[in-house]
Amino acid sequence: MANNLIESDIDFVNDITKLGGGSLKKCFQCATCSVVCNLSSDDKPFPRKEMIWAQWGLKDKLISDPDVWRCYQCGDCSVNCPRGAKPAEVMGAIRNYSFKNYAFPKFMGTALSSPKYLPLLFAVPLILFLLVLAHVGNLISVPAGEIVFAKFIPHLYVDPIFIAVSAVVAGAMAMSITKFWKNMDTNNPHGNHYGEKSILQSGILAAEEILTHNKFKKCDANNLRYSGHLAIFYGFMALFAVTTIVFFGLYVFGLELPLKLTNPVKILANIGAVALITGCTIAVYNRLNKKDTAGESYYYDWLFLGILFFIGITGLLTELVRLSGNAPVAYWTYFVHLVFVFFLIAYLPYSKFAHLMYRFVAIVYAKYAGMREPAEDAVSEKTEVKSVA
Ligand code: SF4
Ligand code: SF4
Repeated sequence: MANNLIESDIDFVNDITKLGGGSLKKCFQCATCSVVCNLSSDDKPFPRKEMIWAQWGLKDKLISDPDVWRCYQCGDCSVNCPRGAKPAEVMGAIRNYSFKNYAFPKFMGTALSSPKYLPLLFAVPLILFLLVLAHVGNLISVPAGEIVFAKFIPHLYVDPIFIAVSAVVAGAMAMSITKFWKNMDTNNPHGNHYGEKSILQSGILAAEEILTHNKFKKCDANNLRYSGHLAIFYGFMALFAVTTIVFFGLYVFGLELPLKLTNPVKILANIGAVALITGCTIAVYNRLNKKDTAGESYYYDWLFLGILFFIGITGLLTELVRLSGNAPVAYWTYFVHLVFVFFLIAYLPYSKFAHLMYRFVAIVYAKYAGMREPAEDAVSEKTEVKSVA
């Protein structure tokens, strides 16, 4: 016989509270949040149901709920909640909990969830790259002559490190995502209505949604948040494309570095870095001025923004100082840049950066499983409700 008992997890409620969902107990289930959310459909709408599940400690339902990832934390619901229960923050807290819950190996999820482990996490790339420098004899003095970063930390060492780390991270991500998909498939609150779209079609539609941010754009409460997110996303994508092109350029086409400033790849890199820094600055401004209706910021938010910001800044500084001809500063700025890049890649599955992957997979699943989306006329009705309120 099927076991219909609802299993409540009190520790989960405490964890959600610590991760930013402290206001969830104020919710009295009026459903205003679901009515005003432009991304929620009439079929088992969110975030009202997630609020009651979180109050009851229904961890298993929440960590396998695709709706948690269909929310862009715009804050429309929090702004309109009559009880100040901040559903946007609760949804964010559930996502943060998911990074830790699905982490493989588990201890990495714990390490990325608290600032007390930060020195240890930075120590790993720091020691690794210092050992490389000691090995090639560049620890005490930097190479003479033209500034070429490969003379300081040769590709022979740095590239295998990044390839190995990327492979391990890809494996860990695959484990986490497989579990996430299985959980969604088992507990989908909407029921599964397969057959309307193939996985490939669902993947293409999900990629389109993320690339165009067309759902995020429908949120009313905070347009600045949308702009910052867009700049960060495209800045990162540009830098990712540049890294891939340079990697294959080096090993397949014998590309020589450094690239000239007029080289299209270099131009793309500089545009990407500027977009990344601009997007992070907007996001930090939003959060510090509490204009971010999505609510308070927590460790996961600051860590994510901080790492991206310093990757952009150190990347640009590396180039500027190289052009100025100050070799020691240029080489050590490059060193710091590598440490931040390592941090981003190696800890990607366990930090807020993983939200991109979880969101993509949840959207693919939602489309594949035939979950309904709000009709366009419903969105304009919701906007009217908010303007009347
Ligand atoms: S609007 Fe606020 S009180 Fe009403 S259901 Fe949503 S979170 Fe709860
Ligand atoms: S934060 Fe925005 S997208 Fe998320 S549930 Fe609230 S209104 Fe909907």
